This record gives sequence, C-alpha cells and structure tokens, in this order.
Amino acid sequence: MFEHIQAAPADPILGLNDAYKSDLNPNKINLGVGVYKDEQGNTPILKAVKQAEERLLTQEKTKSYLSIEGAPAYRSAVQKLLFGNDHNIINKQLAQTAHTPGGTGALRVAAEFIKKHLPEATIWVSNPTWANHQSVFQSVGLEVGSYAYYDAKNKSLDFEAMLASLSQIPEGDVVLFHGCCHNPTGIDPTPEQWYQLAKLSSKQGFLPLFDFAYQGFGQSLNDDAKGLRTFLEHVPEMLIANSFSKNFGLYNERVGALTIICETAEQAETAFTQVKRCIRTNYSNPPSHGSAIVAEILNDPELYALWESELKDMRIRIHEMRSLFVNTLRVKGVSQDFSFISQQQGMFSFSGLTPDQVTQLRKDYGIYIVGSGRISVAGLTHDNMEPLCSAIAEILN
Ligand code: PLP
Repeated sequence: MFEHIQAAPADPILGLNDAYKSDLNPNKINLGVGVYKDEQGNTPILKAVKQAEERLLTQEKTKSYLSIEGAPAYRSAVQKLLFGNDHNIINKQLAQTAHTPGGTGALRVAAEFIKKHLPEATIWVSNPTWANHQSVFQSVGLEVGSYAYYDAKNKSLDFEAMLASLSQIPEGDVVLFHGCCHNPTGIDPTPEQWYQLAKLSSKQGFLPLFDFAYQGFGQSLNDDAKGLRTFLEHVPEMLIANSFSKNFGLYNERVGALTIICETAEQAETAFTQVKRCIRTNYSNPPSHGSAIVAEILNDPELYALWESELKDMRIRIHEMRSLFVNTLRVKGVSQDFSFISQQQGMFSFSGLTPDQVTQLRKDYGIYIVGSGRISVAGLTHDNMEPLCSAIAEILN
C-alpha cells in the first residue's frame, strides 16, 4: 500500500535547521529558523513564564479536557491584547476567539473555515510571504494568489504596486496581511498606508485575514496592533490568527488563537459554532499548558509588567544587532549598501544575498541562511557578528 509513496520535499526552513544540526563545523551559525537567541546564543525561557509555571504547578487541579475553544481566561486576555482594553469590539461582543495550537494551527483552522463557508474565495498573500502560508491554504484546497509587496531594487515596500494589485481583488475573496514585522522582508506599511489599505478593503469588499505572529517585536504591543486596529474602524468582518510562540518564547507549547469578528454579536456567536466544528474534527480541543501560562501572565499586573519588559529587551537587542550588522559589514569593507537592514523590524531581513551566495556561505563557512536570502536577525550576537560579516565580505568583494 505504501510502496508508491514518494518522499516529500524537505521544508525549506525546518529542513535547513536539520542540516545545521548535523553540520560538524564548530563555528557554524544558524540564521535560518525564526527563533530568538540571546547574547549567548540561547533561546531562554522568560522569567515571567517561569514564574507563571511555578504558580500553575501548585494551583493546577486537573488535567481534564479544555473545551473546544479553550479556557475563558485565555480567550478574553487574547482579545484585550489584540484590540486594547475596553475596545468596542469587546464591549459589544463582536469577536469570538478560539485557542489554537500556535499561529499555524490558527491559520489552518481559518483555512478550513474559509474553504467550507466561502468556497469560491481565493486567498491572496503578499509576494513574498512566510514559506508555509501557501502550503497551509493549498492543503485544504483553497486557491492561493499573490499581491505585489516588495520592491527588490529599492529594498522597500512597493506600495503603489500593492494598492494596484489589491484593487483588482474582487468582493468575497480573502487577503492575508502580516500584522507587523512582515516575514520575510521586515518591512511594514506605515500608519498612513494601513489607513489606505483599510479603506481599500472596505471599498473592494474583500475579507482581511491578519496573521499576527510578532506583536511586540516591532515598536511596542500597542503600536504593532495599529494596522489591524485601523482596519477595524473601516471593515465589519475580519479574521485574526495570532501566535505567542515568539513574544512569550513559547515555541514548543503551541499557543496561539483564531479570532473571528462579525457585524453583530449574534453573527459572531453563530459563525463561531462553525469554527468550533473545524476544531472538533481536527484536533478536538487545544493543549492546556501554554495557554494557562499566557493567561496567568496577561491577567496579573505584576507578571504582565515583567513580561512586557522582557519582550522590550528582546526587541531592543534585535534592533541593536541590526545596526551592528550594518556597521560591521561597512568596517569589513563591503561597499554594497546594507543600511536598509537597520530600518526594518522584527526577526527577519531580506539581505539581498543571492541563492548562490547563500549556498556558498553554507558550504564554505557553515552559515545557514534561507535560500531566499532571508536572515533571522534574532540569531545575530556580538560573538557571531565578526565571522559572519567577514564571510559575507569575502563573498561579495
Ligand atoms: N505566521 C508567520 C508570519 C510566522 O512567521 C510564523 C512562524 O514563524 C507563524 C505564523 C507560525 O507561528 P507558530 O510557530 O506559532 O505556529
């Protein structure tokens, strides 16, 4: 029965991680997968997370199932973080949130929900986008199209082309936006551009789906939510897939959420029964531990303040690494202008390195970068900066 099965291609990002792990080069550097590293090159457990876990260990009374949509304390805390306290959407109960296994789980549930209830819809993603978007949507049989986003020549957002693309998208289709810290380019629309996009969404009648995996990694928790909050002023319906893998460092706990926003509370409640149906037939109900940690932190002012300051530290370290990277390349005599990297935000930058240069870095120097030239800036440290920039200088000069 299984003889005819052919091997699936390696995942472009996780496959690279496996190759890194089996590389025997003692000086190898991993700038592939989007995981935060501290100055020592470790991915730490946040202090706020540890403290929340200590509390949970003593307070937890059961390992019984959660409900299909997850724990109430978690679900309401997610909404406050997305919309801000006392938002109209919360007060009028226009949103319903389900805890999902990570942001990927949220996208997958959203995909099934769209396929079932908007069967004619095409989903549009930015060019380029996170490598898994297409696969997740195609796996449920959705048509996936792409809209213009990146200006490779100027290393910037091609906003004119983006508007022109989105103006062609018909009513009833779905458009995915990266809420902040666009993966892989690190380039986001400005507040004024978000406003124009929201107006366009309202005019065209397409449904926005926000993928919000990096809240707090750009400017701040509130500033990073500006894009989706601006949309909420102009469109009555939206889907949001958010993740706590990065901003809580809870990568392996699989904690995220899918939120559906409707025009009335009644519609939201009804639509949510169908979201729950997708979950029930998929993984039945979510794992508890990660969401209990997040709820404990978000609902406790002291832990919240500690978490926010730890998140700020991660954000600042990444911003500093961006500047240091640009400066070190300059010191090493690289004439090509890399200054755009310090203007981008989030974990990633499109470096402009070609696939051949990326291959050479891997083969000759043990430096692992995704084939597109995307660098995980969160993997840069003072220690690996010198060897990395020397290798890039040797390749480019
Ligand atoms: N969306 C984007 C843009 C991402 O970069 C990622 C993770 O890298 C995800 C979603 C998925 O996050 P999670 O690990 O929580 O499934």
